[in-house]
Amino acid sequence: MSDLAGQTSHTGIERRGIMLILSSPSGAGKSTIAHNLLETDNRFSLSVSVTTRQRRPSEIAGRHYHFIKQDEFERLRAGDALLEWAEVHGNLYGTPRDPAETAMREGRDMLFDIDWQGAEQLQAKAKSDIVSVFILPPTMEELRKRLMRRAEDSKDTIEKRLKNARREIERWTDYDYVVVNHDLTQAFTEVQAIVAAERLKRDRRPGLDAFASTLIGQPLDGIDV
Ligand code: ADP
Ligand code: 5GP
Repeated sequence: MSDLAGQTSHTGIERRGIMLILSSPSGAGKSTIAHNLLETDNRFSLSVSVTTRQRRPSEIAGRHYHFIKQDEFERLRAGDALLEWAEVHGNLYGTPRDPAETAMREGRDMLFDIDWQGAEQLQAKAKSDIVSVFILPPTMEELRKRLMRRAEDSKDTIEKRLKNARREIERWTDYDYVVVNHDLTQAFTEVQAIVAAERLKRDRRPGLDAFASTLIGQPLDGIDV
């Protein structure tokens, strides 16, 4: 993952893609923010994870997740087909290697909706390409309400996720950025600002070298230098 090819930004200057990781306790709003980002920013593609969990009514197989059985998951893991994997809330989740590596090789930006364990594994593999954002709920009561309102998981599942939330929130210090999702528009604007700034980082813009050299070589008509 380290020798990633560049892509050309709207300025015409070649740049490297970013691997944007969004994590949060369940229900804080990371999937909503990820969805908004994919809708409004066509430079991102989503890394579609494999999971052994049950599909929620609103989810589309192949778009939100690849829903697979445990033996298939274990086959992928044994075959090194997963870039990272973890057990979360009693289910297995993993990032398929091929699509992520292809996107990064082509210099495209990739969005990963994964937990802190996955973030840790990707950081170890491609640190300089990663931008990590942790989304927090404004209060634990609001987190509970959002999980209830989403109404796509059983009562037991919601309780398990709420119980796990405190442990997940403790990982906030591992991330580059923290966004409190009180107001969705505000939180989304903050994530967009993070992306915009990260895309402009010098290290991600190998094309700047040639651009600056060209600038320096341009004549300054009428000025004696
Ligand atoms: P996650 O992916 O973190 O588990 P979701 O994105 O599925 O969470 O959001 C959980 C629920 O909360 C969804 O019903 C979503 O529409 C809602 N939600 C997200 N952000 C906000 C917000 N700022 N205010 C109120 N509800 C929100
Ligand atoms: P959910 O079941 O609500 O879709 O996701 C539960 C948790 O698993 C979330 O924290 C989500 O970010 C995480 N998750 C989803 N896909 C992956 C993955 O491929 N790898 C890891 N490590 N976590 C994932």
